[in-house]
Amino acid sequence: MPDLVFSHSHEEEVTYFADLILPLPIPNLFTYRVPRTMVEVIKIGARVIVPFGKKDGRVLTAIVARLHNTPPPRYQARYILELLDDYPLITSYQLELFRWMADYYMCCIGEVMNVALPSGLKISSQSKVQYNPDFDYPELLSPEEVTLLEELKKHPALTYEELGRLVGELNVPTVIKALVGKRAVIVFEEVREKYVPKMIRKVRLGAAYEDREALLDLIRKLDKSPKQQEVVMRYLRHVPVLLNSALNSRGLDKTVLNQDDEISQSSMTTLIKNGIFETFEVIQPRFSDNLAPTVEIRLTEAQQQASEAIMAKFNTQNIVLLHGITGSGKTEVYINLIQQALESGSQVLYLLPEIALTTQIVVRLQRVFGDKMGIYHSKFSDNERVEVWKGVVSGQYQFVVGVRSAVFLPFDNLGLIIVDEEHETSYKQHDPAPRYHARDVAMMLAQWQQAKVLLGSATPSLESYYQAQQGRYGLVELFQRFGDATLPQITLVDTKVEKKQKTMKNEFTSALLTALGDNLERKEQSILFQNRRGYSPYMQCEDCDWTAECPNCDVSLTYHMKVGELRCHYCGYKEEVPRTCPVCGSTKVKTIGFGTEKLEDQLQILFPEARILRMDLDTTRAKNAYQQIIEEFEQGNVDMLVGTQMITKGLDFDKVSLVGIFDADRIIHFPEFRATERAFQMLTQVSGRAGRRGGRQGRVLIQTSNPQQLILQKIITNDYRGLYDEEIRERQDFNYPPFSRLIKLTVRHPEQHISKQAAERLAAELTDTLGSSRVLGPEQPLVERIRNQFLYDILIKIERGPVNMKAVKEFIRDRINDVLTDKGLRQVSIVVDVDCL
Ligand code: ADP
Ligand code: ZN
Ligand code: ZN
Repeated sequence: MPDLVFSHSHEEEVTYFADLILPLPIPNLFTYRVPRTMVEVIKIGARVIVPFGKKDGRVLTAIVARLHNTPPPRYQARYILELLDDYPLITSYQLELFRWMADYYMCCIGEVMNVALPSGLKISSQSKVQYNPDFDYPELLSPEEVTLLEELKKHPALTYEELGRLVGELNVPTVIKALVGKRAVIVFEEVREKYVPKMIRKVRLGAAYEDREALLDLIRKLDKSPKQQEVVMRYLRHVPVLLNSALNSRGLDKTVLNQDDEISQSSMTTLIKNGIFETFEVIQPRFSDNLAPTVEIRLTEAQQQASEAIMAKFNTQNIVLLHGITGSGKTEVYINLIQQALESGSQVLYLLPEIALTTQIVVRLQRVFGDKMGIYHSKFSDNERVEVWKGVVSGQYQFVVGVRSAVFLPFDNLGLIIVDEEHETSYKQHDPAPRYHARDVAMMLAQWQQAKVLLGSATPSLESYYQAQQGRYGLVELFQRFGDATLPQITLVDTKVEKKQKTMKNEFTSALLTALGDNLERKEQSILFQNRRGYSPYMQCEDCDWTAECPNCDVSLTYHMKVGELRCHYCGYKEEVPRTCPVCGSTKVKTIGFGTEKLEDQLQILFPEARILRMDLDTTRAKNAYQQIIEEFEQGNVDMLVGTQMITKGLDFDKVSLVGIFDADRIIHFPEFRATERAFQMLTQVSGRAGRRGGRQGRVLIQTSNPQQLILQKIITNDYRGLYDEEIRERQDFNYPPFSRLIKLTVRHPEQHISKQAAERLAAELTDTLGSSRVLGPEQPLVERIRNQFLYDILIKIERGPVNMKAVKEFIRDRINDVLTDKGLRQVSIVVDVDCL
């Protein structure tokens, strides 16, 4: 056998194969054949189009991960259909990153690719139908077929959808199938790239008139048609071709010349017809604001010291944690470091949590970096994301500020990565896979590209602070607010006492009401924080105790008054508010508890003259709603802002001198091992919005039924270190992170007993080898059922140290496969969350 092959191959060229990443949740790469015409040009990291699956015509966009000449042992390789890039769209660093992520986060590399690439770089394929010009047996056709065919004759080609719209009630797929059988139509796949660059139409003088004499001659001749002459003169005012003929080639935006009047439009048409003007199109970059840098930052002495300390640490350490209190001007320190990195010629990535990015920070950065800075945000349109991607490749953007998915951009020369607000949980992707943590991914990226990482926070995660204590990260502190501002004074208000004295009005203590009134009088702004949206979280019948519950999930429905709906915050289910109890018919249906909507409502009644805005998920759904609220507040058109944790993140307002916090107890007593850390972070961050400018000290009032709680004492004294010492001991005692690594497996199935059975079996198999101290559960989570799926959690805790995590993960993966290949359990789904939060 080998001889046979050999005797062929010295005449024929070697057959090339490519291992491809397909955008599917499948564990393996797929091998395809490279057509001879592509062999010379195909590169690792380029996109290709390949057929996939049994059905003809289904195509996928894939990425070339490996080129070689070994045929796949178990299947006949199919040919690559098309090569989309003649350069690697995905850098080798990115490929390495994809592989690492799939391994580390226990998912498929195709899933990583799906999340990594903006969909504009993926390809969509759509079936199109076309009239077959060779068809000439019309007598064979049914009336429906004739109708369809007549439509098709009028158009070059149509999609099924377009056809459906044209022919109304006809069953398009069936009729087409019949027509295909009769060879009356041709069906083909049209592949198109979804990224559409924005084009602008421009005009310029015909090449003949770039010559000075010819142009002057033309102007003289146009004396007879003054309107046309006016248009030419208008052009010359914008593009002085007589002074510099080379300017003509760049032309002028057509809309500038038309100036909306019809006269110039018709003159224009004539000028174009006569060859005096010619039109052409160019791609318009989407971010051509022509922003020039306008400010220079002068660091304060404390900031300068911090900046120098960070640079010094970078000499010996790759990761530095900047612990800087709220309002200390961490952003200014970052800017300084970014400038240094850019000057040295390397790229910079600045990560921010989603919501913080929409705001003021971007404006501040733009004033410094102008249009050298790319912005990568998930609210951006896909085309905009593609443009940032391409800008990084082309070198236009050496510096990108972005949300967690910006770690996927094609950097190849990073010098510095900043992770601002590094404690933020929104850096962890929840759904879908890969369930990655952008901070941790950033560190891997940095390691490969020899970049430095700066983590920054006023309330560092225990994990990061612990690493700093162990000497694995450098630690730099900045404990001074900018200007003459000081940290706000935090007061605990006892709601139990006020309730007894009957001094509360609705949810407001008299202490908070007085403070709010004072602030209103002084025309200073107040922020009110309640981490729950909607009007109230429960609706209940006083007579029979019925409560409104979601039919799909195991939770109560939240009452939203303005829209008159009950809504599920887990699955989005909504229904109209019942006027009477659906069980007993009683009219005494009451609401229990309060959310931001109710607070806003009550506040307006208490302070009728106050201008109040609310900021939560419900008021910020529209594209620019968030910015609008911030602008209104910034311009002083608002006295009080009520909001959820959205208002805790990075906002920087001058005139906020009071922050009121509701329901602190609920935040503190959340049943989760990180609750104390979270509460400290959340309450400290929201407090930090007060008193950010000098002048009078800001004030924070926290309403609680138990002011003695240790954590509240730590918050009012801003005692991060005390909190850390306390917490880290507990983490150690119970072997929680940072002393262990967590992997959470969630088993889901619409039937509870199946879900339970699968979870119990999985847990048993895991426990057999890992031991019962490392495997907790299965346990039903707080919300047992979401979207009609019953959930069971298994928590795997692996101590840090000499454990081969790779082997552990492989073992877990095998056990999951065992369960999933069991006949009775095949429909179960199991979600793996590595380093779950
Ligand atoms: P942090 O992120 O540490 O909470 P910021 O970076 O938002 O603090 O800074 C707080 C405020 O102080 C911002 O409005 C910022 O513009 C201002 N600020 C801080 N440092 C300086 C500086 N060196 N020069 C001018 N303004 C500064
Ligand atoms: Zn009832
Ligand atoms: Zn629901």
